[in-house]
Amino acid sequence: MRVSLTRKRVKNLNLRVVPPSGEVRVSAPRHVSERDIVEFVGSRKAWILDVQQRILTRETPRRHSLSPGDTVPVWGSSLCIQFQRGQYAAYRDGESLLCRAPDYNHEALQALYDQHLREQMKARIPALLSEWEARIGVKTQDWGVKKMKTKWGSCNISAARIWLNLELAKYPEACLEYVLVHELVHLLERYHNARFYAFMDQYLPGWRQTKAVLDTPLET
Ligand SMILES: [Zn+2]
Repeated sequence: MRVSLTRKRVKNLNLRVVPPSGEVRVSAPRHVSERDIVEFVGSRKAWILDVQQRILTRETPRRHSLSPGDTVPVWGSSLCIQFQRGQYAAYRDGESLLCRAPDYNHEALQALYDQHLREQMKARIPALLSEWEARIGVKTQDWGVKKMKTKWGSCNISAARIWLNLELAKYPEACLEYVLVHELVHLLERYHNARFYAFMDQYLPGWRQTKAVLDTPLET
């Protein structure tokens, strides 16, 4: 397996499989030995081959129809889908995501999972927003959550309105915080320029590691 290696000032080993060739890119802290890197890549081999195959066959992510017993990511944890008959509801119970619907079908499970993700986002965003608006010294007029294909978030600067991708609720909570801070910083600086990244480094020094998590497809 060919791997392109970059030595960087990073805390951890990062591994990415990059379209369109499926090239494996590793960034590693300077002190990590080549042997450890080879071992690290070896331990992720099954996952790498799987991602490469999906990239090379240009298979779009399977439109997964959910079944009881499937695991789904919520805030970085894998929850096991369970179905119960009842009024529409979805909530977490330990390591399970309990999905209630009057009748069982795959679409209902998918809709309930989406609903759970949306509720999770809406429950967490207000506190994060007021905390970060105060720290950064900006104010949003409006915010929303929606499914987005290509972006984690967006900011309409003149309307002071931000959108956050529903899928963020699948990743560790630090990812939502990172995207939210990124969009708020756009209220100070429109462009991704040196000034923008200086603000990011000032407010959220670990943002690059968090971004790397979002750049890696979820293992499911
Ligand atoms: Zn941006």
